[in-house]
Amino acid sequence: MKEGKGEIELIKEGKRLDGRGFEELRPIKIEVGVLKRADGSCYFELGGNKVIAAVYGPREMHPRHAQDAKMAVVRYRYNMAPFSVDDRKRPGPDRRSVEISKVSREALDPVVMREYYPKTSIDVYVEVLQSDAGTRTAGINAASVALADAGIPMKDLVSSVAVGKIDGEVVLDLDAMEDNNGEADMPVAMVARTNTITLLQMDGRFEKEEFERGLKLAMSACHKIYELQRAALIDRYSESVGEGEE
Ligand code: UDP
Repeated sequence: MKEGKGEIELIKEGKRLDGRGFEELRPIKIEVGVLKRADGSCYFELGGNKVIAAVYGPREMHPRHAQDAKMAVVRYRYNMAPFSVDDRKRPGPDRRSVEISKVSREALDPVVMREYYPKTSIDVYVEVLQSDAGTRTAGINAASVALADAGIPMKDLVSSVAVGKIDGEVVLDLDAMEDNNGEADMPVAMVARTNTITLLQMDGRFEKEEFERGLKLAMSACHKIYELQRAALIDRYSESVGEGEE
């Protein structure tokens, strides 16, 4: 659990170390359809985080005993590249990536219309190329757009961001310096249109009032991210329509 080391001053003159206000997101960049061999893909940048999501399927599921006769099975693999962090990360799965894969899949599951594709799998691969805290949220945002790009029927997109507490203040979208030295970190994912929360985790501690304020802040930021995800998809597909017309 986070204790808030308090050794590094994270807020100076009302601003965070990177100059952001308390309720400010890091810059976001979204590109749809970046991988030729995937059915759907998305590159997502959130400040210093760079992630790629690739979606394959629906396709016949192997091993067969893992198939669901009534619906598709969504599999999600979150992977952090060895070069994505300051200290080289040992390649391959570890407890952290298994946990993140599980909660991310559960964050997306409610919107995927799995009943259309019995006995198949929909495989989502998230590769973190560069990390600066909030990689699971960046991965979920990317995966959601990649699923849409793959043409998988979905009720809606899922949008995700973290809130946290640094130097006693509730702030949006922690970077790694803030995450490592702050008091709390709470990633949230939601279906923005219906305000349905699909992921909520917490490392550290919030007072009840801080939790409520933090959740509101995260939800409002998810609405902004949702608009950017939508815009990126519209941009991509209006481009292809345009190309076809020429
Ligand atoms: N991190 C790292 N090495 C690791 C795992 C994490 O340097 O093996 C860093 C990385 O920048 C990551 C941050 O710690 O983004 C926060 O990790 P956390 O487990 O809270 O997940 P995230 O915030 O990335 O979803």
